[in-house]
Amino acid sequence: MPKNSIIGFPRIGKQRELKFALEAFWTGKINKGELLKSAEELRLKRLKHQSSVDLVSVNDFSLYDTMLDMIVMLGAIPQRFADIKDDLTLYFAMARGDKTHTAMEMTKWFNTNYHYIVPELSKSTRFFLNPSKIVHEYKEAKTLGITPKINIIGLLTFLSLSKSVDESNPYEHFEKVLGIYEELLNTIAALDDEVFVQFDEPIVVMDLTEEQKTLLRLTYEKLSKISPKLKLIVQTYFDYVDKESIEILADTDIWGIGLDFVHGKENIENLKSINDKHLIAGVVDGRNIWISDIKSVAGFLEEITKTVSKERVIVSTSCSLLHVPYSLCYENKIDTDIKEWLSFSLEKLDEIVLITKLFNNQVLNNSEKFKIETNEKANISRKNSPKIHNSALSEKLKSFTNISRSLSFKERIKIQKKALNYQPLATTTIGSFPQTSELRNLRSAFKKGEISLELYEEGIKNLIKECIKIQETIGLDILVHGEFERNDMVEYFGEQLEGYAFTQNGWVQSYGSRCVKPPLLFGDITRINPMTLKWITYAQSLTDKVVKGMLTGPVTILNWSFVRNDIPREQTAKQLAFVLHNEIEDLQNAGIKIIQVDEAAFKEGYPLRESKKRNYETWAVESFKLATSGAKESVQIHTHMCYSNFNDIIKTIEAMDADVISIETARAGNKILKIFKETDYGQEIGPGIYDIHSPRIPSIEEMTVQIKALLEIFPKEKLWINPDCGLKTRKWEEVTPSLKNMVEAVKIIRSLK
Ligand code: GLN
Ligand code: ZN
Repeated sequence: MPKNSIIGFPRIGKQRELKFALEAFWTGKINKGELLKSAEELRLKRLKHQSSVDLVSVNDFSLYDTMLDMIVMLGAIPQRFADIKDDLTLYFAMARGDKTHTAMEMTKWFNTNYHYIVPELSKSTRFFLNPSKIVHEYKEAKTLGITPKINIIGLLTFLSLSKSVDESNPYEHFEKVLGIYEELLNTIAALDDEVFVQFDEPIVVMDLTEEQKTLLRLTYEKLSKISPKLKLIVQTYFDYVDKESIEILADTDIWGIGLDFVHGKENIENLKSINDKHLIAGVVDGRNIWISDIKSVAGFLEEITKTVSKERVIVSTSCSLLHVPYSLCYENKIDTDIKEWLSFSLEKLDEIVLITKLFNNQVLNNSEKFKIETNEKANISRKNSPKIHNSALSEKLKSFTNISRSLSFKERIKIQKKALNYQPLATTTIGSFPQTSELRNLRSAFKKGEISLELYEEGIKNLIKECIKIQETIGLDILVHGEFERNDMVEYFGEQLEGYAFTQNGWVQSYGSRCVKPPLLFGDITRINPMTLKWITYAQSLTDKVVKGMLTGPVTILNWSFVRNDIPREQTAKQLAFVLHNEIEDLQNAGIKIIQVDEAAFKEGYPLRESKKRNYETWAVESFKLATSGAKESVQIHTHMCYSNFNDIIKTIEAMDADVISIETARAGNKILKIFKETDYGQEIGPGIYDIHSPRIPSIEEMTVQIKALLEIFPKEKLWINPDCGLKTRKWEEVTPSLKNMVEAVKIIRSLK
C-alpha cells in the first residue's frame, strides 16, 4: 500500500525548459518533432525526480494547460476551431488564438495565480473520448518502474468551470460527460491489474449548491463501481470540505479522499465522516515556499490517527506543487540563513519522504537523521531570527490605527476640485507607459554593472522627461511619470524594503509558457528610504500640470508575493500599509497632489468560502485605509483595479474610500457598470474606455460613442476618462494615437454641452 503521494508537480522544468521549447516552436525555430521530444525528456526527468514517493502523478504534465487537455480528452472542441486539422495546431490555436481564431478565454484557477483555459460548451457540443495522452503517459511512467497515479480533473470541477456560449447550462451536459468519464475509466482499467486515479475536485471546497452536491454523488457513485481494479481518489484542495460533501463521497466506493490540512484546517473536524476511506492528508504546503516543521507535522498526523487508522493515512502535499518553484539548487545569491527556511518542489518531496518515515516509525539512516535535525534547527532559527522579527516596528504599529481621513468624501471632494482645478471628464492614464527595448537594455546594463547608477538614473529621467512632453502634447489633464524605473509593480517596492528577498530561478507557471517570479516576503517589513519620491517629484518639476504619484497597494503587494506563514496575512498587510502611509506622507509633503494606490490584485485575494470572505474584506479594506488615511483632504487618492465585475463587492470597494477609482471595463461592456448606478456609488470613477490589451488603435468616433454611453450611467462631474489599464505592454506607436483620439473624443463631448 502506498504511504505517500504527490498531488501534482511543476511542469515548466527546472530551468523553464518547457517555456523555451514552446516559444522556440511558436517562432518556428524548432519543429513539432523537436518540441515533442523536449516535452518527453522533461516528463521523464520529472518522473525520476518524484520516484522517491509511492504515488507519482501522470497526466499532470501539459504542453499548455490541463483544463485544455481535458477539453481535448473529452472531445469538447468548440465548433469555431473545426476547420483546423492538425492536432497540435488546433491545440495551440485554442490556447493562444491565431490569425483567424480568437483564443479561448483564460481565467484564474481558484484563488491562485495559475490560469486555465475555460471550456466553451453549447447545445451543439459533441463529446467523444480521446484517451491517447493519458494512456501514453501512463505507459511511459511504467517503463521507469514507477507506480503512476493518473490525474484527471474531476467532472464536477470541469463542468462548474465551463461556460456556455449559448443559453444552455453546462450542467445540462452532465450525462454525456459522465459517459465519457466511464468510457475513460474502462480504458484505464484495461491498462493494469491495479491503477490509481486521482480526480481533482477543488470545486468541492467552495459552497456547493444542491445541484452540485447531487452531481457529486451521482458522479462518484457511478465511477467508483466501474472496476475493482481502479482505486479512485477524490482530491480536494485550497480549503476545507463541508461534512455533507465528505459524507456524500464516503458513501461511494471510491478508495480515498484527499483533504488539505494547510489551507483548510477545519478538515480535521469532519474526519470521522470519511469512514473506511483512505485519507490523502495534505500536510506539506503546496502554495508557499517555507520549510515544513517535519517533527510537528508527523505529530499532527499522529493526532489524525485517533480518527483514521494509520494504514489508511497517505502523506501528501496540500495541493499540486505547480504553485511553487521547482528547485532551490540554483539559488546562490540569497542569504544562506533565509535559504535554509525555504523549500521548493524538490525539497518538498524530501520533506514528504521524511515525514512518512517518521510517522510510520521506520528506521532512519544517518543522512535522514541529519536532515531532520537540520530541519529542526532551521525552524528554530526562523522563529528567533532578528532578520524576521523587529520589535521596534511592532511597537510603532500599535498606535497605527487611524483608518479615516479627516473629512468625509463629500467634503474632501469640494476642496480637491478647487485645489486641482480639473474639469468634468478629466483625462488621465493608469500609470505606466511603454517599456521599450531601449529601457530594458538600460535596466539590464545597470543590473549587470555595465553602467553606473548615475548613468542609469539619467537614462530614466530622460524617459520621464520625454513622457511628460508627450502627455502635454497630447493634452491629457492629469499626467503620470510613466513608471520606467519599475520592471514590476510589486518587485520594485519589494526591492526597496527590509524583509523582502528575491530568487534567481523561483519561477512559477502563470499560464502556458508564462511564468512569474514572486518575491519572498520573509520578515517584518520596513522602509529604508522613500521609494518613489525622486521620480515623481522630478516629473512634477517638469510641468505645470498635476502629476499623479503611483504606488502599489498593500493588498496587491501581499497577494503577489510569497508571504510569511508564521504570522497572519493581515498583520503583514498592516506592515505594508505603514510603509505606504509613510511614502504618501513624503509625496504630499513634496507637493504631490494626487496619489494613486493600485490594488490590481484586491479581488484575487478573496477566500473561496463565503464564510471566510467577510474577514478578508475587513482587513483588506482596513489596510488600504491605513495606507491612505494620512493624505491631506486636498490630496486626492486614486486607486486602480484590473477587473470589471464589482457586483458582489461594490460596497467593499466604496468602503475603501478612495476619491477616484479607475477600473477595467473596456472588454466587459457597460452592462457591468450598472451596479455603480444601482448602488448609488459615491466616489468618482474612471471606467477604462478602451482595451489596452489589444494593439488596435480605437477611433475618436468609437470613443465618443463610449463616453456618451458612460454619461448615461454616471453624471459628468463624477466621470474620469482613461484607458482600462497601464500602457507598459504597448508600443508608443499604439499609445500616442490612441490617447490623442481619447482626448479628442473628450473635447467633442465637452463642446456638446
Ligand atoms: N499603475 C500600474 C500600471 O499602469 C497598474 C498596473 C496594473 O493595474 N496591473 O502599469
Ligand atoms: Zn490594471
